[in-house]
Amino acid sequence: MDIAIMGAGLSGLACAITLEKNGITPTIFEKRGKVGDRFVNGEVLLSIFSRPVHDCIASLSEDFGIYLKPTSNIQKMELFSKNEKVIIEGQLGFTNIRGREQDSFESQLKRQVHSRIHFHSEHTYEQLLSKYSHVVMATGDGNYAKETRNFREDLTVSIKGSTVEGTFDRYTVIAWLNYDIAPYGYCFLIPFSEKEATISIAIPDLPEIDQSINDLWDMFYTKVRDQLKQDLPITDQFQVTRYPIGICRSARIGNTFYVGNCFGSMMPFMGFGQYAALLSGVYAAYDLCGLGKYEELMEPLRQSYENSLVLRRAMEQLSNDGLDRIIRSLQGYWGEKLFQTKTINPLKVAGFLLRPYLKMKKGVTS
Ligand SMILES: Cc1cc2nc3c(=O)[nH]c(=O)nc-3n(C[C@H](O)[C@H](O)[C@H](O)COP(=O)(O)OP(=O)(O)OC[C@H]3O[C@@H](n4cnc5c(N)ncnc54)[C@H](O)[C@@H]3O)c2cc1C
Repeated sequence: MDIAIMGAGLSGLACAITLEKNGITPTIFEKRGKVGDRFVNGEVLLSIFSRPVHDCIASLSEDFGIYLKPTSNIQKMELFSKNEKVIIEGQLGFTNIRGREQDSFESQLKRQVHSRIHFHSEHTYEQLLSKYSHVVMATGDGNYAKETRNFREDLTVSIKGSTVEGTFDRYTVIAWLNYDIAPYGYCFLIPFSEKEATISIAIPDLPEIDQSINDLWDMFYTKVRDQLKQDLPITDQFQVTRYPIGICRSARIGNTFYVGNCFGSMMPFMGFGQYAALLSGVYAAYDLCGLGKYEELMEPLRQSYENSLVLRRAMEQLSNDGLDRIIRSLQGYWGEKLFQTKTINPLKVAGFLLRPYLKMKKGVTS
């Protein structure tokens, strides 16, 4: 069995690590000149979205032998709607760095991989398939799956973000759900040290949104500076336009495995996808090692995606008044309970409760 992995990101490297642990050496093909050679940004792993697992960093090491050091744990989350605010406290998840930094998740994974990585690869999927018995597609987007009609695209999003300098509490993440600044989307401030943070805005590309992401970004940047009473000079910037979010109809076709965003690990609701990407890489490797069936192992992640899509569609029905009501309802005991309970899966519950309502209202969900 000869295995090619196309893409040395989270899912591709997690797959390689797991194959190696089971005695198989894959060959990895990476388009860029080195691992993580893209923009640098802070990302989060929120426990509320990884249920039933509460601590995904601990689970990755204990259950799968994948060792990742986050930048920090999250002890506080400040959530702002247009007129309301809620502070949730507790062990809520982790922050981490992505991109070319030494401590980025991709760099940390690379240090755990011994297989050869061919950088600056121009190999196409077809070329790899003709040379190798199995191909793991880990290119970080659904484009190849789309070409083979195996991808259901549900939305595209545009994201703009910056690294800013200032004074930050590395244990606190801030999020804004305010449609004046990010219509049907969200904004984040994710610190990756006491002195640097990523601030970003993400909006779905909907025809009813007539402001450009650049204008919205300017508004958001002004708001964050006013709110934090800091200048926040920009040291780096990134922009992602019309990024497709969707899911594969089949996680495996013949001897091709779709992992990470190639499968559909990125949640339509808030764009989280790191944990699912890592798990999908591990599960593809399990199948290749005869330790499980990929399609079956991916079923909970598929369900999670579909529930998250229900939440996204519900979010598109809301206005700022509705968001204010939601933030108000999270104030106090129930908000913290929701973020910390280990027994309830909020995505599953929300999917269950909202699906009939949305079907009745618009017939837009799957
Ligand atoms: C701006 C932004 C912010 C995000 N924030 C969060 C967050 O806070 N929390 C969270 O959980 N998720 C977040 N996500 C989602 C998360 O980053 C992704 O779901 C995750 O990285 C997907 O992993 P992957 O392995 O599929 O792709 P990646 O980790 O992106 O890896 C893909 C790799 O494939 C390579 N590649 C591409 N094309 C080819 C080719 N033709 N041949 C060879 N190699 C190729 C790329 O260079 C890259 O190295 C965010 C995404 C974006 C874009």
